[in-house]
Amino acid sequence: MAERLKFSPAEQLEQALAADRLSHAYLLVGGSLEERLEVARRVAAALNCLAGKGGQACGLCPSCRQMLGGNHPDFHYLEPRGASLKIDQVRKLELELRLKAFQGRAKVAVLSRVEDLTLEAANCLLKILEEPPPGVYFFLLAAQPDAVLPTIRSRCQVVYLPSRGLPSVGWLYWQEILSSDLRRLMVELLPRLEREEDLRAVIEGLILACREHLVWELTGEEGLLFSHGFGQGGDGLSGSECPPGPDNIAGDRPVSSGEDVTRLDSRWIPPEVLWRCYKHLNKARIYLEQNANRRLLLEVSLLNLYRELKSGSI
Ligand SMILES: [Zn+2]
Repeated sequence: MAERLKFSPAEQLEQALAADRLSHAYLLVGGSLEERLEVARRVAAALNCLAGKGGQACGLCPSCRQMLGGNHPDFHYLEPRGASLKIDQVRKLELELRLKAFQGRAKVAVLSRVEDLTLEAANCLLKILEEPPPGVYFFLLAAQPDAVLPTIRSRCQVVYLPSRGLPSVGWLYWQEILSSDLRRLMVELLPRLEREEDLRAVIEGLILACREHLVWELTGEEGLLFSHGFGQGGDGLSGSECPPGPDNIAGDRPVSSGEDVTRLDSRWIPPEVLWRCYKHLNKARIYLEQNANRRLLLEVSLLNLYRELKSGSI
């Protein structure tokens, strides 16, 4: 069960900054890539803000405006070139970090997908982390801490982002699957899923959404739902008065155009159908871990889900 956090990871880091307790290296894990990056950006802005109070960026000063515009000279963002983060990228970053900050404040280096560092690049980064240049802060981003080399991980404070994005993304896709006809599943949804940066997280979100739906159909008990409020348009942390029950699911989705005779009726789905969907999604996750072809895996999974849901709607 996820704890409802009193403070978000970004707020916790801002508080550490306000108390002058900010570490020089953090490993941000969990959430989506955008969420991880957003936390790093927010703290980077606060570090360089010319008017910031309480560890927060003002959003208005020249430095904040540069951060918002994505052109702050002391903000360095590195992401894999091709399949991996390479040693020449890390070396170039190091050279830049050894220079004094342009605006005399903090330099922030954000490395995305550090699980994809080559071994040489990881060793190079490790040396920098062991003796960081003064005034430099590192934010390493990864989907999961286990995928990061232990030597790198041990040099960082690990910050876990709540899995807020996971259930809500899962719910959105789940609702879409419930309300789509076969054509829309294959022509619109499949390519979008295929492009998902973190498909595994999306499938896990779908598994969770399907499980939640099943629990709801079986019990109607909002209290038993792990993520009630997720995917209902709220922020997912404040709770919701309406559980993601059958009346809400797919209720406000636009119906696709045309005759749409094959549209699934998502108002009520028998638990046994949801259970079979759950098993299909679990299988998809296992195949993904075994590096199965993404497109094929998605095609088969969506087709199976469609068949199951259609059988349940008759
Ligand atoms: Zn500012």
